[in-house]
Amino acid sequence: MTDPQLVGYRREIASVMTNPLRIIGVTCVICTREVDAGHQLCVKCRGHRSRFELSGNPGSPSYLTSDLVVPLTYAVQGYQAYTDMYKYKDPVSFEAAQRRLALLAAVFVGAHHSCIDRFTGHPVTCLAVVPSLNGRVGQHPMEKFAELFPLNWHRIQLSPAHDLPSDSNQRREPNPAFYQCNYDLTGHHVVLIDDTWVTGGHTQGAAVRLRNAGAARVTILVFARFLMTNYPPTLEFIRKYDIPHPPYEITICPVTGGVCPQ
Ligand SMILES: [Zn+2]
Ligand SMILES: [Zn+2]
Repeated sequence: MTDPQLVGYRREIASVMTNPLRIIGVTCVICTREVDAGHQLCVKCRGHRSRFELSGNPGSPSYLTSDLVVPLTYAVQGYQAYTDMYKYKDPVSFEAAQRRLALLAAVFVGAHHSCIDRFTGHPVTCLAVVPSLNGRVGQHPMEKFAELFPLNWHRIQLSPAHDLPSDSNQRREPNPAFYQCNYDLTGHHVVLIDDTWVTGGHTQGAAVRLRNAGAARVTILVFARFLMTNYPPTLEFIRKYDIPHPPYEITICPVTGGVCPQ
């Protein structure tokens, strides 16, 4: 039985947001974009893994990147959800976009936040927001959404490092040295929040920083997984699955893409 308040929230976002698809062999197991034939991960996620692979026992590879990424909606280039991800930061036009993102977060918290605990078998203990590396002054616009998440997800701060490269392309590379973390996170499960995911490099760099600080688990929660229409295989995927037209459904678990984990 779904909470009537969540049903009302869903009504407001249903025509704009679209549940990401998790289909083995079709979408990336990590980030939910389309994959090349024969792969479970997209080329970017494969790259992140191999860059931060831990040498362990043969046959049991382990990575410092997050293997669980939970995008709450797809945002197709040119559609409203995509525009919202720019507008929510703009003080002139932000109201409607901010409301939709707040409702998207509220639906996740109301219906699925404990799915991360059940899916991983490791209860979430901390929450961090990926900091902007572009020299933004003041609070990151995502910080206000962080307040919507459970209170027992203890807030921790990640900050940009002082000696960032001046080239913005370099700053998009996954690099844990771009972030400062002044905590001992040994044994903790940190949910790392970011607004958008294009290649995931920036976010995975921050995830590796948290792992380097001792975190046993990092789960990335991203509001919108961008789908870019200027890349033909992505466009074909968008057309085949009629994205973003299927309306947003509360009952589709963003952690599994189907039913909630028991
Ligand atoms: Zn991927
Ligand atoms: Zn769920």
